[in-house]
Amino acid sequence: MTAPALPVDLFDLVIFGGTGDLAVRKLLPALFHRFVDGQIQPGSRIIGVAREGLDDDGYRAQIRSALNGAASKQGDQLDTFLKLVHYRPLDARKDAGWDDFAKLMGEYPDNVRVFYLSTSPDLFVDICQRLGGYGLNQGKSRVVLEKPIGKDLASANRINDDVGRVFAESQTYRIDHYLGKETVQNLLALRFGNALFEPLWNAGHIDHVQITVAETLGVERRGPYYDHAGALRDMVQNHMLQLLCMVAMEPPSSLSPDAVRDEKLKVLHALKPINETNASQLTVRGQYRAGVGEGQSVPGYIEDLNSSSKSKVEHSSTETFVALKAEIANWRWSGVPFYLRTGKRLAERVSEIVVAFKPVPHSIFTASAGPLAQNRLVLRLQPDEGVKLWLTIKHPGPGGLRLRHVPLDMSFAEAFGVQQPDAYERLLLDVVRGNPTLFMRRDEVEAAWRWADPILAAWAAGGESPRPYTSGTWGPSAAVALIERDGRTWDEDFEQ
Ligand code: NAP
Repeated sequence: MTAPALPVDLFDLVIFGGTGDLAVRKLLPALFHRFVDGQIQPGSRIIGVAREGLDDDGYRAQIRSALNGAASKQGDQLDTFLKLVHYRPLDARKDAGWDDFAKLMGEYPDNVRVFYLSTSPDLFVDICQRLGGYGLNQGKSRVVLEKPIGKDLASANRINDDVGRVFAESQTYRIDHYLGKETVQNLLALRFGNALFEPLWNAGHIDHVQITVAETLGVERRGPYYDHAGALRDMVQNHMLQLLCMVAMEPPSSLSPDAVRDEKLKVLHALKPINETNASQLTVRGQYRAGVGEGQSVPGYIEDLNSSSKSKVEHSSTETFVALKAEIANWRWSGVPFYLRTGKRLAERVSEIVVAFKPVPHSIFTASAGPLAQNRLVLRLQPDEGVKLWLTIKHPGPGGLRLRHVPLDMSFAEAFGVQQPDAYERLLLDVVRGNPTLFMRRDEVEAAWRWADPILAAWAAGGESPRPYTSGTWGPSAAVALIERDGRTWDEDFEQ
């Protein structure tokens, strides 16, 4: 049984960058699914904006073909949905088109207004200034900022200052779609809805935590963006630190947006610094070479970069892989390492949080019973979102006391008989509802950069190139050494 989907207030959701990859591949399908579930009512509008000279019908045709897969079972629903979709061509940096756009917005003055900036961040300021100039930032209006919010603390501050001149912090929704994933929200339910876990959730009982976000794809057509970012900026500073915060935060006093975000912020402040003095021991950078990706021969990073960019390079010091050992300096987590690992063109596409509990203090079993494995709570974010708690039990039957390590499986799709919604479905409607709990507050973004900047500086000062790794593997061998030095191994039991 799923919870009933309650309709949200009438809204105008404007997607700047409405013809882009994110809008077409993620945002519009997410909105369509929420429409099919009855949460979006007639009278709401979805307005795509970009430079391409389309009219409403031209844009609807684009969206229809993008949604055809999702909509195959709901053909007539798609027609009704597309009636809510509009388009206005304009250049964020030029005057033409803005009057017409503002006129369209003025038609439904009472609708909640959501301005989703699904463009390159260097357009955020132009867009916000014009929205402010037309008075569109008033009342029930909100702005959604896609990552990346800057490339370091200074540039993040500039973006936040500039956007902040038009939209108040309470109107600003910095999206991190990992926080919209069911598993991440389930982490809150597991930790704070059960008496079972919280007493064990500390350095006394938890040995270590691993967070893996592994992709099998390379940089694809995002090469030029990615080469200026790299894995630390693209994944660790935002998504992975947010996951770490959700695991490590103290129980908030309520689920109110600031109660949750205050607790996450404390974790970010408590992260031990990684800088020039220790970066070489605590971090590993890698860059993929030719190998195997999704069953096929694939080229290396430089070749991928050159094929997605006009300018050609022979060398890049951008990392497509990073592994690191983070520590949180507070009572709860003292001495518990958090191993983070992310990369492109790795052996499998999987995102997981593994909470590994300490071994039992003394074994009463004989060697013939088999090894005693540590309990692990495994939270899978993708694919197949779900939670498994690995326990030791007796192998059934009369063959003597033999131990088995088995998962208590809480896979959501099976347990509830439903497909998990995409994270954007939840988050987009949270913006309309005015609930920023699952969005990053400005001080969180700043604290994350404050921790990440010295790592980037240490790498730059060290001058070492990222270590090569073959596509289709788990990254450079130094990443294995990083965790094995501590007598632990990366969890790669993904099939079970
Ligand atoms: P994209 O495919 O390059 O799309 C960019 C969009 O912006 C297009 O609709 C483009 O259309 C429009 N645009 C460009 N210049 C413009 C201008 N001067 N005025 C108005 N519109 C303009 O990029 P994307 O992959 O969708 O990514 C958008 C943002 O989301 C980026 O910041 C990216 O880092 C972030 N993001 C993307 C993903 C993803 O899965 N794609 C995931 C996470 C975050 P015209 O050229 O016709 O104007």
